[in-house]
Amino acid sequence: MSVLVYIENWNGQFKKQTKELLAYATDVAAALGHELVGLSIGSASDEALRELSAFGLGKTLVVRGQAFDKFTSINYANALETAVDHTGAKTVIMGNTYNGKSMAPRLTATLDASLATSVISLPDLSQGFVVKRSVFSSKGYAYVDLRNGYKVLTLTVNSYSIKENPAGFSLEDITPLVAVNDKVSVVGSELQSGKVPLTEAELVVSGGRGLKGPENWGMIEELADLLGAGTACSKPVSDVGWRPHSEHVGQTGITIGPNLYLAIGISGAIQHLAGVSSSKVICVVNKDPEAPFFAAADYGIVGDAFEVVPKLIEAVKSLH
Ligand SMILES: Cc1cc2nc3c(=O)[nH]c(=O)nc-3n(C[C@H](O)[C@H](O)[C@H](O)COP(=O)(O)OP(=O)(O)OC[C@H]3O[C@@H](n4cnc5c(N)ncnc54)[C@H](O)[C@@H]3O)c2cc1C
Repeated sequence: MSVLVYIENWNGQFKKQTKELLAYATDVAAALGHELVGLSIGSASDEALRELSAFGLGKTLVVRGQAFDKFTSINYANALETAVDHTGAKTVIMGNTYNGKSMAPRLTATLDASLATSVISLPDLSQGFVVKRSVFSSKGYAYVDLRNGYKVLTLTVNSYSIKENPAGFSLEDITPLVAVNDKVSVVGSELQSGKVPLTEAELVVSGGRGLKGPENWGMIEELADLLGAGTACSKPVSDVGWRPHSEHVGQTGITIGPNLYLAIGISGAIQHLAGVSSSKVICVVNKDPEAPFFAAADYGIVGDAFEVVPKLIEAVKSLH
């Protein structure tokens, strides 16, 4: 038997989260005593796939063709179903990405499977197939037992560590059915430009309403540049247009999990914490010692951002 893992690419490229997913799927397959089989759909090159063999990608099914150049839920879910038939896999794992969240329910319905989204743990097989899910915008956890024969899981980004794990690599093409009457199709796309993509960033410098206005973001960008960090912001900051919406983190924004999250002039409302609480280290700069963010922080500086940040910049410069 096998475990099938969907290896998602972004314009042919793989991200850090693909390696996390491979580490997770490798461990699930090992726990079940099953073979791990990868599935790539679309434009990733053989070479890009081969590079993932250092992280556990062995036998890999490949779906290519014009109908798969762009993501459509129905065709990609069909490809997954074909791969399930081909391998006899009972467990299918994919990232909790926009594409994963769109395909997983469709595949679940087709296979009459059990579905768990936003998974953050390996299954506990001692009492069935119990996985931990983050729920209510990461404010709580649910432990769910997947009882059907087929199981579909989507893994939360930044919830599993990357491991080097060389695997014997091979490719096999498969040809799924193509839906002739797809009801939704991507007619264009626009790339958000940014120096470091937030979901990939190891370090993030983030600003809130305490920075008073967009004209004061120069020091945030300078500090982020010096650290090689991504920049983020709280929701009100993007709502009023001080920063682009693509930087908004939290319950209604992006969820991130960097090694360091440096929050400057942000109060630490629960909706903000929902998007940043899986950061490994949180450091807060706030002039109010009672700001709720300090309770969630590993390090805190009580002080005025306009005094503290220039000092941080000088300190980082002195290390270069
Ligand atoms: C349904 C819902 C969803 C939401 N989703 C999100 C979300 O996804 N993300 C999000 O961020 N928010 C979200 N919010 C809003 C959230 O509740 C807070 O209102 C918001 O996070 C506050 O943003 P802030 O901390 O930047 O601003 P404020 O609450 O105004 O806090 C500013 C902070 O800056 C400090 N400060 C002021 N001046 C300085 C200075 N000179 N130096 C240092 N510190 C200073 C203040 O002490 C204060 O703590 C949501 C709200 C709702 C109701």
